[in-house]
Amino acid sequence: MKLISAAQTEHAEQRFSGHPVSPGIVIGPLHEAAEPALTISYTKIVAADVAAELARLTDAVGKSRKQLEKLRGRLAGLPENSQTELEPLIDAYLHMLGASRLMRGIRVRVQEGLQGAEAAVHDEAEAQAEAILALKTDDREGRQRRADEVREIGRRVLRNLTRQPFRSFGGLPQGAILLADALRPSDAALIQPSLVAGIITAEGGADGHTAVMLRALGIPAVLGATGVLEAAVPGMIVIIDGDAGEIILNPTKASFDAATGKIGEIVRNKRELARLHHLPSHTRDNVAVLLQANLELPFELPMIAQSGAQGIGLLRSEFIFMNRESLPDEDTQTEIYQKIVAAMDGDPVTIRVLDWGSDKEVEALSPYLPEGGEPNPALGLRGVRLLLRHPELLETQLAAILRAAAAGPVRIMLPMVSLAREVTEVRGILDKVWRRLKRRGVAIAEKRPPLGIMIETPAAVMMARHLAVAADFFAIGTNDLTMYTLAADRSLPVGAKLYDPLEPAVLRMIHVTTNIGADMGIPVSICGELASREQAVPLLLGMGIRQLSMHGNAVPRVKRAVRAVSIAHCEAIAAAALNAQDADEVREILRG
Ligand code: PEP
Ligand code: MG
Repeated sequence: MKLISAAQTEHAEQRFSGHPVSPGIVIGPLHEAAEPALTISYTKIVAADVAAELARLTDAVGKSRKQLEKLRGRLAGLPENSQTELEPLIDAYLHMLGASRLMRGIRVRVQEGLQGAEAAVHDEAEAQAEAILALKTDDREGRQRRADEVREIGRRVLRNLTRQPFRSFGGLPQGAILLADALRPSDAALIQPSLVAGIITAEGGADGHTAVMLRALGIPAVLGATGVLEAAVPGMIVIIDGDAGEIILNPTKASFDAATGKIGEIVRNKRELARLHHLPSHTRDNVAVLLQANLELPFELPMIAQSGAQGIGLLRSEFIFMNRESLPDEDTQTEIYQKIVAAMDGDPVTIRVLDWGSDKEVEALSPYLPEGGEPNPALGLRGVRLLLRHPELLETQLAAILRAAAAGPVRIMLPMVSLAREVTEVRGILDKVWRRLKRRGVAIAEKRPPLGIMIETPAAVMMARHLAVAADFFAIGTNDLTMYTLAADRSLPVGAKLYDPLEPAVLRMIHVTTNIGADMGIPVSICGELASREQAVPLLLGMGIRQLSMHGNAVPRVKRAVRAVSIAHCEAIAAAALNAQDADEVREILRG
């Protein structure tokens, strides 16, 4: 408190906002960890210097390799999810230092362009990063990440070439709040969570590797806060709100009190949620509700295991196919599924077969797509449609799933179904694969796993009665169902008042599906983002839903919401919401 009033006399409170990257509120003294600026010389060389210049380059590349190997050695001391994040990144860096396009380009600049090694590294890394950013793909974040990786490896080689120091985290006081222009994942790996209370950067996005690392390390962080660097003074007291993405430099007493109040609330909330872990998921009137997790990337597995989720309700298998030049074969896929099934220790894992298309891109699949692309990918060859057009893709994936099912209970799920015929065709392929594996004596599940479908199209809702004969379970994908019902792109923000899963049109779709599922005796779950909104729990239970699958982090909050309500109360809410005029009215009902 003393520090604050001392600082207050010189500086007024200043607020900045950035990306809320890692949650939590912290208060502490600011410590700047600036990276010394790189200076490079642009002198031209002559042909006689080429050999010496290339030797300098080789030496700097060798040093960079050694540093990265050392960094890999440090990974063992980091939380498991940061290891999973950083390991492939270090591999990518090492690959770039080997026989890569980057290294070839740098050598050509030295040999043919007669550029000095520094200039060649800088210009080639920049040129390749720019070329990646200019690619015509929808995955803007992915392109940005790859461009950053190329620039990062360029900078590392340059520091070694010019013998200029890297950023240093030495001399940090305990509980410091670290301020930097930008942080790279390899910087993040050097940060000790026991010393650093929070992190602020002026540059950086919410979805990069650094952000994922900081979340994994559990350090509250706000990245990309423009202007903060210029306003900050080392030693100044700062508050970081990692949930809201807010930074307060030199807080007033009122701001300080508000932050300490919030910290108390967060601690109480955490304790309450932790207590919930072992409590059953049922309503006040004892109706059981199954809460499962969605898995999008393998590093989420430890978090899911701790979340109290009773299995995986949606494994989005797309990650297995992404960022690679060729498709994963049966053995590769089997190994990945097996690990996940074994980790869930007897709880069921619902594996959704590849859902390519719409906003999801898989480069390795380009040979399977219509030439020249599709005019409207969301309405084209996506999900099960693509798989049925190329059954060899489906056969490989189904074989891998059946083999993994020997390790524990598995369900198979189909995305983007609109016709019952699609399900019966897949079942035929599943039978064929099953018989082939049996004939070969391969270890597979004892019984054929249940084959279910995502309900994501209005056609699937309208034909649910027929689909319930063809399929063993329904999982309502409210993300896509909202998009196709309202004819509004799912990338539109809710604020645009077009895409909103709380629109009664969507709720009626859910209600019809749930009723038909109950009538036909097949389980119905919800696995779209709506399932993770605790405010929507009474509405979903009131419509008859008894299974929800969501991001692992949301499980405790949703469980608390389930335990707080009775079914009679939920049914009254659902009846009112189904008759509401629009999503705003539904929100009013939920607030009431
Ligand atoms: C959905 O559409 O609701 C869903 C869960 O699938 P995805 O978000 O992977 O398209
Ligand atoms: Mg979907």
